[in-house]
Amino acid sequence: MRKTLIAGNWKMHGNLDSLESLVSGIKGQLDNSWQCDILVCPPFIHIDRTIQLTKGSKIAVGGQNLSEQDQGAFTGEISGDMLKDIGSKYVLVGHSERRSLYHETNDLVAAKYAKALEAGLTPVLCVGETLEQRESGTTMDVVKAQIDAVLSFYQDNAEGLEKLGQGVIAYEPVWAIGTGVTASPEQAQDVHASIRQYLSEMNEAVADKVQILYGGSMKAANAEQLLAQKDIDGGLIGGASLKADEFIAICKIAG
Ligand code: PEP
Repeated sequence: MRKTLIAGNWKMHGNLDSLESLVSGIKGQLDNSWQCDILVCPPFIHIDRTIQLTKGSKIAVGGQNLSEQDQGAFTGEISGDMLKDIGSKYVLVGHSERRSLYHETNDLVAAKYAKALEAGLTPVLCVGETLEQRESGTTMDVVKAQIDAVLSFYQDNAEGLEKLGQGVIAYEPVWAIGTGVTASPEQAQDVHASIRQYLSEMNEAVADKVQILYGGSMKAANAEQLLAQKDIDGGLIGGASLKADEFIAICKIAG
């Protein structure tokens, strides 16, 4: 049985004041009987403070990105080891904004995925198609290529699959991110099931175990139907994770 993970991606929002009220709003409404795992990914500069503020709660903290390098003269970069060192548990890799705005290729994302695991972080591999790709019927080709890059980063497929099983996948159709247009539960389930099927053709145990989150305009009003889908194991939430009441409402639905 896969656990549900509700993850908030705070992107480049907030300041110390807003962070304090967001975290206290979330923390203050948490119910310890909920089984779901909860993760928040603040901007790098707010990770440390968020870790202090969430201490003693079930909220895990993660990065939104990491370097594919270990250390050295890489001005402005943050390594997986640094994230781990300050207490992060997870890190997003290959978010569509990183891919489109910062030109991260499938290969670069795969290298970052590997660095996250080496550092002892759980990578959340973000995959998904643009509207154009969906309309031309290539959704699964795009998603498979994004997954294949991680598999082929390793010596062989078996090792790649083992590594994929140590992370989380987030299916985020690009056309649904930050647009208010969410994929229908059927559209999302369809892709989630296809991803699981693809993995199960290579390794059934990994396919059964890997959490596949949905991301793209998820909010309290649509979370119930999305999270009810068989292959949807949680959500990666942008805009709605910046409002404590909304984020908590989604966690409550996840239960
Ligand atoms: C995201 O940034 O990963 C995301 C899903 O954003 P939003 O929920 O705002 O669409």
